Amino acid sequence: MGTGDREQAYARARQEAERLTANGIQGIALTWVDNAGLTRVKSVPTARLPQAARRGVGMSPVFDVYLVDDSMTTSRHVGGPDGDLRLLPDLERLTPLAAQPGWAWAPVDRYDQEGRAHPVCQRLFARRMAERARERGLAVRMGFETEWVVTTGDPDQDPPHYPTTGPAYGMARLVDLADYLADLLGTLDAQHTEVHQLHPEYSPGQFEVSLAPTDPVAAADLAVLVRETIRACSGRAGLNPMFGPVVDPGGVGNGAHLHLSLWQGDRNLCRDGDGPHAMTATAEAFLAGVLRELPALLAIGAPSPASYLRLEPSRWAGAYQCWGLENREAAVRFITGAPDDPGAANAEIKSFDPAANPYLVAGAVIAAGLGGLDAGLSLPPPVSGDPAVEGRERRLPTSLLTALEHFEDSTVLREALGDPLFESIAAVRRAEAALFEKSSPREIAIATRRRY
Ligand code: GLU
Ligand code: MG
Repeated sequence: MGTGDREQAYARARQEAERLTANGIQGIALTWVDNAGLTRVKSVPTARLPQAARRGVGMSPVFDVYLVDDSMTTSRHVGGPDGDLRLLPDLERLTPLAAQPGWAWAPVDRYDQEGRAHPVCQRLFARRMAERARERGLAVRMGFETEWVVTTGDPDQDPPHYPTTGPAYGMARLVDLADYLADLLGTLDAQHTEVHQLHPEYSPGQFEVSLAPTDPVAAADLAVLVRETIRACSGRAGLNPMFGPVVDPGGVGNGAHLHLSLWQGDRNLCRDGDGPHAMTATAEAFLAGVLRELPALLAIGAPSPASYLRLEPSRWAGAYQCWGLENREAAVRFITGAPDDPGAANAEIKSFDPAANPYLVAGAVIAAGLGGLDAGLSLPPPVSGDPAVEGRERRLPTSLLTALEHFEDSTVLREALGDPLFESIAAVRRAEAALFEKSSPREIAIATRRRY
C-alpha cells in the first residue's frame, strides 16, 4: 500500500465516518478469517475510522496458527509472541449492521508495518488469484451457500433441543420461525445483500440462505457478513445458531457449497460451448482442474476433523470425486439453468463446509481451475445416479490427515498460496487432527458446532 493510497483512504474514511456518525453508528467491526475458519475482529470507534484507514489497526500475526479451541500451534513462518500487523479496512464494503444497531462492519486486508502485503493474508490471496484469472481474460463469479442449525436452551445440550419439529423443507418450520426468518430477510435487505433463496433444510432446525453471485473476494466477504447477520438475528430471537460441519454426528451436516461460473465479458463460459452439457473448452478445463485437485482442496474447504463426520455418502455432501449434471451426490454438480437464462449455468462444489475460510476457498479453487487450464485437462464422463450405489467412483479423503497428505503433495496449491500461508494452513490442520485424535464423533461435534 503506497502513501498516496493511504491518504486517499484517509480522506474517504473521514467522509464515511461523518455519515455513519450522523446515522448513530458508534463502532466499526473490522474482521478477517483465520486459517482455522474463525472470524476474528478488532473494532474502532467510528471517529477513529480515518486513522484506521490510513495506518491500519494493530494485530498479532499469531492468529494464523490459532486452532478452533483458541489454543495455538506454530509453523516455520508464523508463531510466537513477536510481531505486529496492520489491518486495513476495505471501505468499499463498509456496511451498517442492521441487526446490531450502533455498529458497522468492514473486512480487512493485512499488511506489515512497512505497508507490504502480509504473505499469510487470506483475503489478499483470494484477490491475487482473482487477478491471475483476470490476466488470462477470465472473470470468475462465485456465491457461497450458508447452511446452519438453530437450537434452543442450553447450546451444549445433547441431543440438542430444536425450536421447531417441522419436517425437512417443511412449511411448518417456516411458520414456526416466521418472525425470526422475516427478521433475517429484512436485515439482509437493509444491508443490501441480494438473497436468492431461504429455505428449511434436511436436518432438524436447519436452514439455508443462498446469494446472488459476485466476484470472488466479494463472495467471501458476503459469506462472512451473512453468517454474522444470522448470528445477530438468532441472538435477538433467543436461538443458538450453529455453523459447525456437524451438529449431530449421525445425521446430515451443514455444507457451505460454492457456486462458480467463468465469464469473458458478457459470455458465460459454462454455456454455449462444444464441451459436455454445452460448456466451453475453457470451462471444462477449469472444472477438470478443480476436480483433479479436490482431495487436496479438502484441506482448505473441509478443514476440521468435524468435516469428515459430515462428508459421508448419501447426505448430499459431495463425498465422491466425480461430477454430474444436477447430481447432488457428486462433488461437482453442474447446473445448466433454464434455456432462456444463459447467466444461470454454473458449477456447484458441494464438498466444502462452513468451517472453511471462504477467502482460502475462493483463491484455492481459482488456482486449481487455472491449473486445469495450464494442463489442458478435460473432464471424465459425467456420473448420474448415486455414486455410492454405483460403487465405481473414487471416494474423497475420509479424514483430515488424508486430505492433508494430498494438500502437502499439491504443487499447484503450494505455488499459489506461497510457503508462509501454505505451511501455516498445514500446521493448523495437523494440530487440529491431533487435538481431536482421541475424541468420539459426538465430542468432536459438541466441541466444534458453536465455534464457527
Ligand atoms: N446439508 C448438505 C451438506 O452437508 C447439503 C444439502 C443440499 O444439497 O443443500 O452439504
Ligand atoms: Mg442446502
